[in-house]
Amino acid sequence: MLKVGITGGIGSGKTTVCKIFEVLGIPVFYADPEAKNIMIKDEVLIAGIKETFGEESYFSDGTLNNKHLAGIVFNNEAELKKLNALVHPAVFRGFDNWEKQIPSNTSYTLKEAALLFESGSYKMCDINILVTAPPEVKIARVIQRDGISEEQVKARMDKQLPDEEKMRLADYLIINDEKNSLIEQVLGLHKQFLEKAVRY
Ligand code: ATP
Repeated sequence: MLKVGITGGIGSGKTTVCKIFEVLGIPVFYADPEAKNIMIKDEVLIAGIKETFGEESYFSDGTLNNKHLAGIVFNNEAELKKLNALVHPAVFRGFDNWEKQIPSNTSYTLKEAALLFESGSYKMCDINILVTAPPEVKIARVIQRDGISEEQVKARMDKQLPDEEKMRLADYLIINDEKNSLIEQVLGLHKQFLEKAVRY
């Protein structure tokens, strides 16, 4: 089964693209919600987080103390790296378990992750896609979707690896700028992946 990774900056439309692949019958693993889920479910990960960032990382009912963790990792690269080093391997395990349940006659699966390249997860995929859009389009989308200010969107964007760097690692680009047809691009890639899957 071919593994296809897909990523894109905030507001690029990667989730929207994945929904189209889902309509085509392709199973999609969403790494970001999975990461949030395992942070309160995976015992090994929970123990690691408590050991590294303190027992107070969780409330007594088992929910995550986001404020405590954010206070440590926000604007602190070294601490953020430590958290990612705990979370990413747990997400990889989650993906492997998820994939085992996919019917064996499936041609390919998609793994959507905001940090596909940064986490090294792309190396475990056979093909990697980057979804791009002009910055002003991304900003307008996120303002509309999340109801936050332009400055807040830009602050989040500044924390992400620039598209130029991601492009070097990507095998395919999807340009989601509302001028190029998104459906046609997805259908074109789907056709290519089905052909590759046969030879895989
Ligand atoms: P994030 O990383 O912030 O979660 P994302 O890359 O997953 O973002 P989406 O959530 O798919 O992006 O898209 C951002 C917003 O833009 C959504 O509200 C979505 O409906 C909208 N959007 C995405 N692509 C298009 C498009 N081609 N035309 C119109 N709206 C779009």
